[in-house]
Amino acid sequence: MMLERDEIIRLLADEQNQQDLFKKADAVRKQYVGDEVHLRGLIEFSNICRNNCLYCGIRRDNPLLKRYRMSEEELIDTARKASEMGFKTIVMQSGEDMWFTRDRMCRIVEAIKKFDVAITLSVGERSYDDYKAWFDAGADRYLIRIETTDKNLYHHLDPGMTWQNRHECILALKEIGYELGSGIMVGLPQQSIASIADDLLYLKQVGVDMSGIGPFIPHPQTPLKDEAGGTLNLARRTMAVMRLLLPDINIPATTAMESLHPQGRILALQSGANVVMPNVTEGEYRRLYELYPGKICVDDTPLHCKTCIGAKIMSIGRKVGMGYGGHAGRLPHKPK
Ligand code: SAH
Repeated sequence: MMLERDEIIRLLADEQNQQDLFKKADAVRKQYVGDEVHLRGLIEFSNICRNNCLYCGIRRDNPLLKRYRMSEEELIDTARKASEMGFKTIVMQSGEDMWFTRDRMCRIVEAIKKFDVAITLSVGERSYDDYKAWFDAGADRYLIRIETTDKNLYHHLDPGMTWQNRHECILALKEIGYELGSGIMVGLPQQSIASIADDLLYLKQVGVDMSGIGPFIPHPQTPLKDEAGGTLNLARRTMAVMRLLLPDINIPATTAMESLHPQGRILALQSGANVVMPNVTEGEYRRLYELYPGKICVDDTPLHCKTCIGAKIMSIGRKVGMGYGGHAGRLPHKPK
């Protein structure tokens, strides 16, 4: 659906009639992507990061965080177990940890691809040649949020990084042939509703295949610790408008939403979302990958998470997807 910027702003700001918006987004979701909810097994494999984003708990200058990095074997083993549990997509996310060189990631992707899964990478900004090599090794999808399209805000929040470079990474990933996941945070300090509307128009223009909306949650060990943060309802309205704008894309019910509300992901699934990414990281690592405080399920096991979310999905009359869950039915590609 094409919505004018003014109309998007009106919908984002209209708290009173948000239930109507949620219902509409839910109907569009049902019409375009059906009742299946696709699960992705999320592995958080390193919290070491070269960047210093003001909002992020794993930023370089957080000295209080105990750092970890999975070995190649550990990462591959975690992915194997997730595939044995039935996950058809494995998402590998980390800080920008350069120990994972181009070649090392290629080896990891090649090994995990043998488990008959779609592979999603989310390791931040890298070179075109890295992205290309990983795609050729078998990576199918890439998640990299633009975070905000307000360039001044971006440059304030991500010191040492440039908005232009992030944008170029997004264009490169599309060109190489990845299914592209992006998205934003809402409730960032100084972020206006109009700016969120611009973000949504950007995501539409880029042609994202997947897009996540998360509320910003202030982390006590970061410079933004005293900020207000985003609300579940603003995140939900943003997500719902995105469903109207991009009716057939994959939209995750984000973990950050559930951190603000015990039913956050279910509420998201009922207002436009069709994907959930249960955490399949094991042991202490779950707690240590702390982007924001109040992260859910840090003491649970991967199997517990999968069973729990599966039951929640069925309880609202939806089904757990059994396929790869690519955008518009797209299947994983063969490695070169
Ligand atoms: N290093 C990778 C992965 C980033 S972490 C990359 O650069 O893409 C994944 C996402 O968590 C980020 O893109 C950001 O949108 C979100 N995030 C980070 N800190 C957050 C916070 N305090 N509250 C909510 N979301 C946060």
